[in-house]
Amino acid sequence: MLKVLKFGGSSMADETQYAKVKAIVDADPDRKVVVVSAAGKRFKDDHKITDLLYLCHAHKKYGVSCDEIWKMICDRYISVRDALGLSTDIESEFAVLREKIDSGISEDELVSRGEYFSARLMADYLGFEFVDAAVWLKFNLDGSVNEDESYQTLKKIVGGHKVVIPGFYGVMPDGAIKTFTRGGSDITGALAAAALDADVYENWTDVSGFLMADPRIVDNPETIKQITYSELRELSYIGAQVLHEQTIFPVREKKIALNIRNTNQPDHPGTMIRESFAEQEAEDNRFITGIAGKKNFSIINISKSGMSSELGIVRKIIKIVEKYGVNVEYMPNGIDTVSMVVDSVKASKCLYQMLGEIQEEFNPEKIHVTENIGIVAAVGRKMASKAGVSGKIFARLGEHGINIRMITQGPDEMNIIVGVDNKDYDNTIRVLYDSFVK
Ligand code: ASP
Repeated sequence: MLKVLKFGGSSMADETQYAKVKAIVDADPDRKVVVVSAAGKRFKDDHKITDLLYLCHAHKKYGVSCDEIWKMICDRYISVRDALGLSTDIESEFAVLREKIDSGISEDELVSRGEYFSARLMADYLGFEFVDAAVWLKFNLDGSVNEDESYQTLKKIVGGHKVVIPGFYGVMPDGAIKTFTRGGSDITGALAAAALDADVYENWTDVSGFLMADPRIVDNPETIKQITYSELRELSYIGAQVLHEQTIFPVREKKIALNIRNTNQPDHPGTMIRESFAEQEAEDNRFITGIAGKKNFSIINISKSGMSSELGIVRKIIKIVEKYGVNVEYMPNGIDTVSMVVDSVKASKCLYQMLGEIQEEFNPEKIHVTENIGIVAAVGRKMASKAGVSGKIFARLGEHGINIRMITQGPDEMNIIVGVDNKDYDNTIRVLYDSFVK
């Protein structure tokens, strides 16, 4: 059995957090591969090391001294090392890095050092070997990950050893360090788990998994105990975000389970994500796994008699929208009416130009835009097998005076999506939660 663990910035923030990480790793001999982030915030107004490194690079770029920021970075790591009584000689590495900064270092290389130093200290503390991401995580020239080469290399290096790997970066074909986008250590963990064919990828953070609804709207929402990769994709697409969005692809492809855990509450089982769950594994018989949503969409309705029998019309409309770089999120159509749900902010810059072009090309009888729409998705794999689910949802929203402006359901019947006025958005989520989860 092999478990790959990734610890986020808050789990690496100081010596107390390091001690929690060690207790978690030591508690299970299968926890053999550990991926770490740079040190995160210790308290609300603290700084993340990665932010300080970006700042350091910007100062140098514009010819401003970065001495003060540099000292803050060095001090954070030195104080963790000293508090834990470790012997890693980071001072000499800091000296080499400082010279590089002064003579010109790429932004990616400099900001990657947060993860590098975290991993060096954590390897020392756990008594594991340090494996630099620069020796195995290889990018292609187009910025995608060269999975075959990366997986083979990591497999060879790790063998059966216990290792710590820095997250967030890898190397380009010419050896230059390249980072993922922010939060990218999640992806490093997923790639390491896929490379080593792990049984589980444990992603340790500061929340006990995904919540069934937004806690700013619903009081104390329950944690989602089990969720499939498809359900998670639905929920994250519409709003719920805990992981970097590219995280799930490598592990899902290899059918590896992903477990979101909380370093500050290690006994909590968190959220388990898998390709599927057998019916008897279900922890409850609710048909909703989670509720997510977003405000500020617009619905564009285009009506023209006889439109439904005109070949290629939808494609032509979409082509115009595409030309303006606007993504159509949903398309619930009627006979002789095409309607498109778009993000209001993204569409606002070009809305009238775009509609003008549609008007000119198709001469529709009516183009109507409804703004200030909130989209709420109730997602659940168990919906597909139950009759009357949408009826119950619509009835309950109606009883609470919520006017549904748009309805759509994916072909796999795993979600029911409603568009409501922005002003009804919070209440829609609350009614769904109170009616079908509580
Ligand atoms: N340290 C990087 C960031 O703050 C990457 C990560 O933590 O995943 O974005």
